[in-house]
Amino acid sequence: MEDCIFCKIAKKEIKSKIVYSDEEIVAFEDVNPQAPIHILIIPRKHIPKILDIDETDKNILFRLIAIANKLANDNKIAESGFRLVLNCNSDAGQTVFHIHLHLLGGRKFSWPAG
Ligand code: 5GP
Ligand code: ZN
Repeated sequence: MEDCIFCKIAKKEIKSKIVYSDEEIVAFEDVNPQAPIHILIIPRKHIPKILDIDETDKNILFRLIAIANKLANDNKIAESGFRLVLNCNSDAGQTVFHIHLHLLGGRKFSWPAG
């Protein structure tokens, strides 16, 4: 999608620190990290928000989580723990309308989430 910042990051039209990439998924460091490890994992396919998914996106959703697990292991936060976040719409604070899974780790998180 033309005006989408995350589509541009996936196509390397905007610079970012990419930590994983394949034909379907890209992962990069969040520009404003909220934890020592804060990585965004996105599908190359432009899906604006989690409410927009359908049956055909099953594999993408599985792979977002599988790559989060891999990156948690790579960053040595798998055993200590990590948080995965998918924000949807304004009450959750979604600001970029291209699905992205936040992988956060390297510190303790409180619950309930703020
Ligand atoms: P949301 O609030 O939509 O779930 O999260 C959007 C995230 O994208 C935020 O954590 C924000 O810091 C990050 N972000 C926004 N623009 C950019 C950018 O241009 N580059 C990178 N690397 N992260 C971005
Ligand atoms: Zn997009």
